Parts: sequence; structure tokens; C-alpha cells
Amino acid sequence: MLASSPPLDTAKRFSDIRAAAPDFEHLRSQYDDITDALENGASVDEAVHAFRRWDALRRSFATWSALAELRFQQDTKNANYKADADALNVLRPKVTGIDVAMKRKFLAFPLRAQLETELGTYLFARWELDVTAFDPVIEPLAVTESKIEDQYTELLAGAEFDFRGERLNLPTIGKYAEHPDRDARREAAFAKWDFFARNSEQLDRTYDDLVHLRDRMAKELEFHNFIELGYRRMTRTDYGPAEVARYREAIVRDIVPLAQRIVQAQARDLGVDELMLWDEHVFSKAGSPKPPQAYDQMLSAAREVFGGLGGEVGNFAGMMMQRDLLDLQSRDGKAGGGFCTSFPTYGLPYIFANFNGTTHDVNVLVHEMGHAFQAYSSRALPVSEYLWPTFEACEVHSMSMEFLTWPHLERFFGRDAQRYRIQHLKTSVLFLPYGAAVDHFQHFVYENPGATPQQRREFWKQLEETYMPWRRYGGIEHLERGGFWQLQRHVYLMPFYYIDYTLALCCALQFWARSLDDYAGALADYTQLCKRGGEMAFQSLVRSAGLQSPFDAGVLQNVAQRAAEVIAV
Ligand code: ZN
Repeated sequence: MLASSPPLDTAKRFSDIRAAAPDFEHLRSQYDDITDALENGASVDEAVHAFRRWDALRRSFATWSALAELRFQQDTKNANYKADADALNVLRPKVTGIDVAMKRKFLAFPLRAQLETELGTYLFARWELDVTAFDPVIEPLAVTESKIEDQYTELLAGAEFDFRGERLNLPTIGKYAEHPDRDARREAAFAKWDFFARNSEQLDRTYDDLVHLRDRMAKELEFHNFIELGYRRMTRTDYGPAEVARYREAIVRDIVPLAQRIVQAQARDLGVDELMLWDEHVFSKAGSPKPPQAYDQMLSAAREVFGGLGGEVGNFAGMMMQRDLLDLQSRDGKAGGGFCTSFPTYGLPYIFANFNGTTHDVNVLVHEMGHAFQAYSSRALPVSEYLWPTFEACEVHSMSMEFLTWPHLERFFGRDAQRYRIQHLKTSVLFLPYGAAVDHFQHFVYENPGATPQQRREFWKQLEETYMPWRRYGGIEHLERGGFWQLQRHVYLMPFYYIDYTLALCCALQFWARSLDDYAGALADYTQLCKRGGEMAFQSLVRSAGLQSPFDAGVLQNVAQRAAEVIAV
């Protein structure tokens, strides 16, 4: 394998990071030069050299696009940032086009077998998927797909609620889900879902349009249906729908009974007869534990938490703070949400979040720090594709970090730390059935593209009975009629993505269980896993860390047993 990566640019602080906007014609001519070098009887060495030149161009483009995207999110009112973000939207599909053409050239290289030895067989397996998932014939459909997706995003972003004297939107009305007053929670739930009921026709139509369009796209590319294309778009080289279906069955068998017991205990703890939808996010009459409210205190607590993990993680977190690679506070003009991005030519990650003073701040910071630690640990890998793994593997790094910080959570929550840990574990268990239901739903939808919106809702209701038999909607009509999934943006925007969170959680829970017995060993394996970035497919990565693949028999059962002991249900 290629031993070296290109030398990294240096930046003392975030403000030193720079990237010039690419000129597409110039970029294309550079790609043409590389393609020429691959032809006319090029040797394997020449092909490797050509690969390095291409890879360096991709890293530069990735750095510029990450920076353009980030700056716009940091200040959506800045006209220059907006112009760069718009330029990126136009450029990205074009660059994907020339990248796919380049992958085809490498795949067709006459001495491919030797090249695979140099660059890695897995890389070629990924490219095989990429080139079949994209073809210029579907480009107009892909553009339409983005436009319809935007309709959904805009509809939800425009939701407004006059609630208890406040003007709220969908994210902010969410704070009532954890409100200590049950009536407030109930009223907020009715208000929120009333928005969906009022827009139910548009929500149905938008989804229907997306399903038909994606089905057409798949058929243009000569796939049987969109499931095949959807899996390819997720770059899944080492498992398919059959493995995922068996995994969902294991969730029903091994996790749902435990989840059911957790919900019963939760109702007892809250002193209610039946746990209603609006009670699901509350685990104690005392409400959710709260982290430090002042930003400086929060940051110094974070420094101590990560410092407590010691070694590479501790040094890394210190470096992120010193070099100003975090933007965590909400402010006017800053976009919502939380994510981690990276600048490959500098080998540096960056964390973006919007603190609001709840447990969410801890969740998001620790989670994104896991992503960032992986991106940093694998920064020197010699192939762009290896800098970030596929999504389910990425989420193993972030979700495992959430569990590996457990011994130090007193810094965030003081005497409530143990309550936070149990709540974290319970919500993790409860998430698995929901995630599987969302995935099962999408398989039904794309297998039956002719199903009506009504049939889709009926199927969702059946899924709720299987995966979440405890769900009680208490007369919220839109939900009684099977409309819950319309809130789940992945269903509209990122088909087949959702199961990835459950696959990753199944791995993170294994790290958690190991950390209870051998913390140092679990942390060491985690650190090594992060260094491997994306150089292998999901299951190989997982096994390389001494974990079982979520598709292995019995793995969920073991995790459930350990969780039941700790939660004491
Ligand atoms: Zn994540």
C-alpha cells in the first residue's frame, strides 16, 4: 500500500486556514492531464503517481468546500459567504461528474490487479459502487430530487407556533418535550403535530414525488428498484438488504422486550398510569440533569472530561480548544444544528454546534468530538476515501466517545452524573427499535413504489405495533393515522441512512460493555480504530477493534443483557 500522504499545510489557529475557490475549467484541464498520463501504456508506478496528483486535487477541493460550507453556516447573513456556498452548489455535481469519470479510468486500467495491491482492494470496491450509482443520464433527475427535498426542508423550517406566550419553531418547541409539567408537554405535542396535520397533503405529495423520482432514477440505471441504488449511494460494500432485515428481526426479538420494560419502569418513576408520547423524553420527576450554564464553565468542564481520558484523546481535545477549532455558541445569523467537518489539506477537524443549556450540549459536544478525533487520527492516510469511513462506521466513533466519557461525567453533571448515565443508556436502548422501524418503512416504500400515501401510513402503523408497542398517541389524530415518520427528515432527505445510527450504536454499546470491565483496553482499541479511518469496509473495521459485527448472531442479545443489569429492569 501507499505509505505516504501529501505533506499537510500548517495552521496555528482556525483563522489561518485558507483555501482558494477552484476554477472548474482549470480543474478539468488538470484532470485531463492526469487521465492522459494513465493512458498509452502507463506503468503501475506512473498510475500511482497519477493517483497522487488526483488525490491532492480532491483534498484541496474538499478543504475549500468544507470551509465555504462552514463559513456560510457560521454567518448566513454574510453575502460573500452566501456567494461561495452558492458557487459550491453549482460546482459540486460537476466535480462529482469528473471524479466518477476518473474512477472509471482507474477501474479500467490494464494493470488493475497490481494497482489494487498498491492502493487497496477496498478502494476499488467503493469505486465500483460509485460508478454504478451515478451516470450523466440521471443528472437532471438528481437536480429535481434536490429541489423536491428542499420543499420538505423549507416547509418544516417555516413551521411557527404561538405557544404559551412565545413564538417558537420546530426545534425550539422541542424543549417542551423535557418540560417537568406534564400538561405543558401534552399541549406542546398537540401544537406541534397540528402543524403536520394541517400540511399532511403536501407532506404526502412531496414524499410521493420523491419516491417516484428515485424509483425512476433506479430504473434508468437498470436497477430492479431504488433499494439497490440506495444501498450503493450509501457505499455499502459488505452487506445488503438481507443482512439488514435479519438485524431488524434481532432488534424485535432481543431489544423490544427490554425497551418495553424500560418504558414500564419510566411510567412508574413518573407516577403515571401509562407513558404517553409526550412523556417519552422525561425519565425522572426531577427533570433532566443540567450541565454548567455559563459557556466558560462548560468549556473548562469539557477540557477536564477529555483530559480525564488522557493520552491521545486528551491532547487532541486540548489542541481543538487552543487552535480555536470549535464554534459552539448560538448567535444571530448562525445556522442551527451540530456537525463536525474537516480540512484535509491541513489535517484538522472543526466542530460546529448551538448550545442551549440542556443535556443536548453535552451530547452534541461529546458526539462531535468523537467524529473529530477520528478525522484527526486518520489525517495522514494516503487516500481521500480513507479520511472518513462510511456513515455507519463514522457513527461508531462518535457514539462510542459518548460512552467512553462516562467515568468523567461528574465534571458536567455533578451529583446528577449517574442519573445522566442511566438516562443515556435507556435512550440508547429505546432508540434501536425506532431506528429499525424507520428503516423497515423505507424498504416497504421503495419495494412498493406504487403504494398510496394511505397504504404507507397503514404500514407505518403496523410497524409501530411491532417495534414500539408501548407508543400511545392519546388522540393526536395525525399520529393515530400513521403519520409519525413525516417528522423524520432522513426519510425524505437521506434514504436508507437511518439504520446506520442503530448499527453504530450496536458497536458503541459493545465498547461501553467492554469499558465497564476493561476501560484501558476499550479506550486503546477505540483509539486504534480511529486511526484506521475508512481504510476498510464497515464490518472489517468493527472486527479490527475486537467488536462483533451487528449482523453476527447473538450480539444484540449480549448487549441487551448487560444493559438490563445496569439499568436494573
Ligand atoms: Zn454523528
